[in-house]
Amino acid sequence: MEMMSLGNNGLRVSRVGFGAIPIQRLNDDDAIAIIRRCLALGVTFLDTANQYSTSEGRIGRALADWSGPVVLSTKTQSRTAEGVAEHLAQSLRMMRVGSIDLYQLHNVSTFADYEKVMAPGGAYDTIMKAVEDGQVKHVGITSHQIDVAKESVKSGRFETVMYPLNFIVHEPGEELLELTRQHGVGFIAMKPFAGGMIDNAALAIKYLLHYPDVVAIPGIERLQEIEDIVRIVEQRAELTDEEWAEIDRLRRETGDRFCRRCDYCQPCTAGIPISVVLQFPTMVRRMPLENVVTGWIADALEKATACTSCGVCEERCPYQLPIGEMLSENVDNYRRLKHEWQASQSH
Ligand code: SF4
Ligand code: SF4
Repeated sequence: MEMMSLGNNGLRVSRVGFGAIPIQRLNDDDAIAIIRRCLALGVTFLDTANQYSTSEGRIGRALADWSGPVVLSTKTQSRTAEGVAEHLAQSLRMMRVGSIDLYQLHNVSTFADYEKVMAPGGAYDTIMKAVEDGQVKHVGITSHQIDVAKESVKSGRFETVMYPLNFIVHEPGEELLELTRQHGVGFIAMKPFAGGMIDNAALAIKYLLHYPDVVAIPGIERLQEIEDIVRIVEQRAELTDEEWAEIDRLRRETGDRFCRRCDYCQPCTAGIPISVVLQFPTMVRRMPLENVVTGWIADALEKATACTSCGVCEERCPYQLPIGEMLSENVDNYRRLKHEWQASQSH
């Protein structure tokens, strides 16, 4: 597996990394088998987080009998010095290591949070103390908000930044990438499949590989997925004219007003599963009509009728989506389709 530099501080990682969110859904044995397979195939950059429940512990168990190279990356969502110290100690214990290669402040997506973590004696300073103590080798930040991500890069205090980048949502990521190049900061691409909007995983990975200095960390849940991804990396093939045309077509079809399913808007004050309701157009495209107007999808849409327009979710959404308006459009569409389906049943 080809290796690449992440930023200009000597951090080297495999050309594609392993995103350890989905292994939470597996049992221990399956999760550990996938991590081991990744390592054996040369995917040695493993990215997890304190927040991903069983993920760090499973990585620790998978590494117990691994003597080859590995670059461990994890994150803390804490905003305080005490919380960071506690999470870091937990991560070291769960992954059974004496130091972490890359430690990131997780989802710093508002300036209020950014100021909090950067305040003297706060979260960032605690990580820097861990660097001095040898528990952390490199320091990064992850964000969904472009202005916060840019500020982090310009600050000169982070060696990597993790930000969404894929062929559907690419403009802000590319703008940030330009800045990371000027500042020698490594770019880690999150959401390579645009939060489930991209079905064509091979095209998504190949697209990200066309940036020579970006490392993608696709979430892996099945052995076949990692085998396929490694094959694409090893082919080192450029995107063909047909693939670029397909990317253009998918971009036009999607537009930019769509939910990335991050659930940062939760909890909704009326208990509405917002991201499920906002996926309704995709479900309509992919599923038989009956499945989207009955069952759990219909339940979610019915709940959406209880929206009070309080606006709390919109304040939280890092993508500034007009959630209330989008919910209402989806509910209208759902009602129309349900009516059509009921009419078809009565004939
Ligand atoms: S605006 Fe509607 S969807 Fe958003 S939090 Fe309020 S009730 Fe929930
Ligand atoms: S509405 Fe916004 S915050 Fe909520 S899941 Fe979608 S993208 Fe995330």
